[in-house]
Amino acid sequence: MSNAGAEPGWIADTPWRSRSLVLMAGLSIAGLIGIWVCYGGCRDADRWATQLNWILGAIACAGIAVLGMFSWLLAGLRAVRAEKRYVTRNLMPILPRRGRADGPSAPGELGYWADARMKRYHLSTCLLVRGKHPFSMSLDELAATGRTACGVCLPLERVS
Ligand SMILES: [Zn+2]
Repeated sequence: MSNAGAEPGWIADTPWRSRSLVLMAGLSIAGLIGIWVCYGGCRDADRWATQLNWILGAIACAGIAVLGMFSWLLAGLRAVRAEKRYVTRNLMPILPRRGRADGPSAPGELGYWADARMKRYHLSTCLLVRGKHPFSMSLDELAATGRTACGVCLPLERVS
């Protein structure tokens, strides 16, 4: 998955590796030193044309420093995306699916659902049946048991 084992502990738990830290620190410090040098050069210059060159140099050095910080963000983003791909490909297929064997078998399954203790009936996708053991019932059965439609998932408006 990654070479986290080869990294020191303080960085192993982050999305970053030592390499990206070195790149970020190197570019940022180089940029800041460059700005400092350009500041000195500009301060000591007595001609506007020379000062302008130092100012352009300082702007370029600021760009280098920003590039270093941007590389740090980019490295973290790439690492997080790689971990997300790993989880999606390797872990999601083996995780147990939501719902129970005696509940709705597909999230979009139509019909009216309730369990023995519910006074209302729901769509299979309703949050109020999640984690419970609902069974599918016909409208006639529901009417006979006196259950009413859920006000959250509005089953009568979605199932025709
Ligand atoms: Zn509901």
